Amino acid sequence: MPVSDQAFVTLATNDVYCQGALVLGQSLRNQRATRKLVVLITPQVSSLLRVILSKVFDEVIEVNLIDSADYIHLAFLKRPELGVTLTKLHCWTLTHYSKCVFLDADTLVLSNIDELFDRTEFSAAPDPGWPDCFNSGVFVFQPSLETHGLLLQHATDHGSFDGADQGLLNSFFSSWSTADIHKHLPFIYNLSSNTAYTYSPAFKRFGSSVKVVHFLGPSKPWNYKYNPQTGSVLEEGSGLANQHQTSFLNLWWKIYQHSVLPLYSSFRDEEERASPGHSADIGEPCTKPAVGSSQPWPAEGPSEQTVVTDDTPPSPKGCHSEDQLADKAEGGPPVETLEPSQEPPVDVTGDPSPQDALEVDLAMSVFEISIEEKVKELSPEEERRKWEEGRIDYMGKDAFARIQEKLDRFLQ
Ligand code: UDP
Ligand code: MN
Repeated sequence: MPVSDQAFVTLATNDVYCQGALVLGQSLRNQRATRKLVVLITPQVSSLLRVILSKVFDEVIEVNLIDSADYIHLAFLKRPELGVTLTKLHCWTLTHYSKCVFLDADTLVLSNIDELFDRTEFSAAPDPGWPDCFNSGVFVFQPSLETHGLLLQHATDHGSFDGADQGLLNSFFSSWSTADIHKHLPFIYNLSSNTAYTYSPAFKRFGSSVKVVHFLGPSKPWNYKYNPQTGSVLEEGSGLANQHQTSFLNLWWKIYQHSVLPLYSSFRDEEERASPGHSADIGEPCTKPAVGSSQPWPAEGPSEQTVVTDDTPPSPKGCHSEDQLADKAEGGPPVETLEPSQEPPVDVTGDPSPQDALEVDLAMSVFEISIEEKVKELSPEEERRKWEEGRIDYMGKDAFARIQEKLDRFLQ
């Protein structure tokens, strides 16, 4: 039974973190989440990503520190370094929900976690680096403007001992470590993929019950190279991921490939149907009334075919009633299994049609992603030739945005 006054909430302040939010959202849908899905975004998020997010999330809510209430503005002015942290605190303003579970955009849900709604504020799992502190990548909270105001006051007065939301939340909810064991979420709800390695026997014993994986730290799944033919990540700039991490990274990429990339293609198909031969002005993505300004879809946006790596049906698009929420949860892509060795159904052999070629190009461009490598500046002619020859070289941290730019230019 869907519950409409409770929600899973995440945050993405740019298009790169949006890719993580999309995988998280699809992983929740794949696991038949029965609560609403909400993503908080900031004005930097592009129009395209807003639309794509709205295919997965029930609400895409723009938050803007500068235009917000005076007390937020004040906290921000006094502590500008807490920008992303203060944005995360906006989740307490979602007062149309009685209870929420926040998940970082770099988390991945492997099993249904609806039971987290049996917990109360403030519940979180221990941080693997300092277990007397909680990790703020997964937590249960109760939206409240009063709590929000107190948190911001705390930020203004004391800052954060680690410069981020985790330090602030730990000093605000300082009784977490001692007061109530029910507020300690089991580690399986926030398993840091890179820490499991340090206690392999425990991972061997309990690893199969893991429900949420958290790719915390500087190396995010989207920073790895992925080979869609083998369904496996390759070496990242800082070295090979450990064995456990590799299976989770492969799983993240599998969902990205099968359940996120097709959303882009279905969007372009819809746009083309709405206005054959033209780029349609699709207007606003499905959002709740947002704080701050919102951007219309650019007229020169992408208008033709794109990226398809398989035929998984995407989730329904747009706004969703509560009835539709149930459909959305039940009618989504097939449930993902923890089988990282499964081959993804990407056909990169044979004699590709132009559209197939574009699909393969994109799969390969995803394969090329690396934070360590810099995009080489080429003349527009050289770039176009490389693109047409299928030699795609879209590297760098913002690879997804680059892929989008190249597609737009190619299709013009
Ligand atoms: N975040 C974001 N944009 C950023 C940095 C962080 O939207 O530039 C959000 C996102 O939801 C992310 C969360 O804040 O998952 C916490 O940051 P991160 O996961 O990078 O920190 P870590 O878990 O590695 O400590
Ligand atoms: Mn995180």
